[in-house]
Amino acid sequence: MAPESLRYPNRINLDNCATEPIHHIGRTQEYGVIVVCDPKDFRVVQVGKNAEKILGVKYEEVLKKNFSEFLNAKDFEKLKASVHSEEISEALEVGIREKRINISAHLSEDSLILDLEPINVVEDPFAFQRQLANILNKFQAADSVEKLSEIAVSFTKEMFGYDRVMIYRFDEQWNGEVIAEAREEELESWLGLHYPATDIPEQSRNLFLKHRVRIIANVAYQPVPIIPEISPLTGEPLDISRSALRAVSPIHIEYLENMEVGASLSAAIIVKGKLWGLIACHHRTAKYLDFYQRESCRFLAQMFSTELTLRETSETLSRSELSDNIRRQLVKQMSYHKDIVEGLCHDTVKFTDLISCGGGALYIKGHWELHGNTPSREQLQSLLFNFIKQQPGSLIMERHLSNLYPEAASYKDTASGVLSLKIAENKYFFWFRPEEVQVVNWGGNPEEKAFYNEKEQRLSPRKSFEKWSQELTGVSEPWNILDRNIARALRENVSHFLLARQREEIEALNAKLTEANQELELFSYGLSHDLRAPIRGMEGFLTILEEDHGENLDAEGKKLLNMARGLTEKMNLLIDNILEYSRLSHIHGLDFQKVNTSELIREVLELFNVKTSYPKTTLNIQNDLPEVRGDRRMLFQLWANLISNAYKYSAESDAPVVEVGITERKGKNVFFVKDNGIGIKPEYKEKIFDTFTRAVGSRFKGSGIGLAIVKKIVEKHGGEVWVESEPEMGSEFYFYLDPLNVKERDQ
Ligand code: ADP
Repeated sequence: MAPESLRYPNRINLDNCATEPIHHIGRTQEYGVIVVCDPKDFRVVQVGKNAEKILGVKYEEVLKKNFSEFLNAKDFEKLKASVHSEEISEALEVGIREKRINISAHLSEDSLILDLEPINVVEDPFAFQRQLANILNKFQAADSVEKLSEIAVSFTKEMFGYDRVMIYRFDEQWNGEVIAEAREEELESWLGLHYPATDIPEQSRNLFLKHRVRIIANVAYQPVPIIPEISPLTGEPLDISRSALRAVSPIHIEYLENMEVGASLSAAIIVKGKLWGLIACHHRTAKYLDFYQRESCRFLAQMFSTELTLRETSETLSRSELSDNIRRQLVKQMSYHKDIVEGLCHDTVKFTDLISCGGGALYIKGHWELHGNTPSREQLQSLLFNFIKQQPGSLIMERHLSNLYPEAASYKDTASGVLSLKIAENKYFFWFRPEEVQVVNWGGNPEEKAFYNEKEQRLSPRKSFEKWSQELTGVSEPWNILDRNIARALRENVSHFLLARQREEIEALNAKLTEANQELELFSYGLSHDLRAPIRGMEGFLTILEEDHGENLDAEGKKLLNMARGLTEKMNLLIDNILEYSRLSHIHGLDFQKVNTSELIREVLELFNVKTSYPKTTLNIQNDLPEVRGDRRMLFQLWANLISNAYKYSAESDAPVVEVGITERKGKNVFFVKDNGIGIKPEYKEKIFDTFTRAVGSRFKGSGIGLAIVKKIVEKHGGEVWVESEPEMGSEFYFYLDPLNVKERDQ
């Protein structure tokens, strides 16, 4: 006896209904017998109790045997060859004790499961093949899914003789609807009836994906136990979910009994890997289809699925082609107007043309743009902030908005359904669909999915299948995956457009800035020029004052005169530097030539007359500094600024030393100018290269432009300049030039 937890529950109650372990049911239907072997040696380990009826051998005897003993050597070899996976093997027809038996084999965990089913003498074994071409022609001629379904039901009924054949189609919530039906006249029609998702629970739907066709040959059958119940190979209940013979869930049997169905067949319709619906056949009395008939039915369902897939694919294709064209036009409009709202809402094609809807809205940074039939701005504002923004994810697709957001009931005539998509922060698209009042006819009241059966103390399916009409309000036409994809594609387009526009704006801003900068430089150039004349005038007057009235001045007067001279000198230096800097800014054609570095430095030193001006300072220059390519005049200025700074800012040291040479940094040969002077505070290392930035007090003369000039010259030569320094520890200025890096127009 298996432990309680492992056995199929005797009682299905409200708690375990959805997880009813139908794969471990431990019983089979009567029309065949299950034989379970050890796959290693074909020793029989479990068998259905009805073995004698099917095979003519008592089950106790079967359990003592090796399955090979039932087959001739050739058939046994064939069986061995056919078993290799969990997939159901191709059917194998064998003879066992004078009976023709069909074997389908598959592996389930560590067991080999054989479904053995007698082969009946079929009156017309080729009936289906003869029909095939006919069915195919008719399928291909069908111009709608409805027509296709009608053809499928009428052929199925004609070929297999069930009392009622239906195409049952699932919606997104797995509720089913009968969309085509062929039936015996005296039966009432179920066409158009809906059934709640719970009628075919998820695990049954999953089994359909594996099996494709399932019959219940006799609803009033006696389930056949498998002996022993627990697999001796695994010590666990046997998983017979793949066996065609698997017994039926007691709940489902009761469901069929309540519907007055005596036998059933269901064939899965699978479109793009998903269960689309079922061909569902009912018979009032017991009805058995043998293996080959079931195969024919499976084939028919497959043909139907293929036709359906083709139709759905071509429908999707033509819709996406249409929407692609509309989107392309919208993109053109956006680019033409350089504006999303103008492009999407105010030109020939509107964004609402993209997805079938009653109206749409665009929310952009607090502004609403409405088109077609929509709720009011106030209502939309509240919908966006109180509902849409609270939802996870950027896309909301709802056909029954008031169900989730009751306030929406007041505008159900415009927006029972909403598809909203966030494009970016504070930018949203909306499409709305109005209410479509629908009368849904249910096969029984869907609210009474099941009730608790007091007598049997378990859950029972509902008893009444009387047509039960329900008026659905506040519900729109459903949105589908294509609608969602179209909305997402539009979002891509809009995001691209926004990005491109941002880039354009930045570029325009940059151009303006450059222009403003150039103006400023021109302005300072002009200003400096204009300042020269009054300075010269002042210098002239100061000279006259000294020559003509110098004698009349007392010591204080002479001191003030000298100070005034000093200031004019400083002003001249400033003006020179500003003029030089401005000149550099708008020089484009550089005069590139070979420049002898050592010679250039010698000239700089001569100009500054360093020996006389800085007698204390020792100078170390590396010999044979390499030639460079560059603008000689600029390079002169570059060296002049660095060398004069080195002298100036080390002059107060006890034994000032200035060094000039070449070394390696950043994997390159770089020039350096080094001193042992006052050094530079870390926070100034970058800033000193900006104009008018000085990191020293007034005891050192200067304009704060020298290093800005240096930087500009180095950049114009495709190089880099930087400083390494510690306060009071001296400074090392490094630079390299890379003329290959210079744009042609600058050379
Ligand atoms: P300035 O005319 O003031 O020397 P620069 O642009 O040449 O202007 O230099 C900017 C500032 O960088 C200087 O005011 C000084 O603070 C600092 N500086 C430049 N070179 C040196 C150096 N060799 N040692 C220390 N500080 C320096």
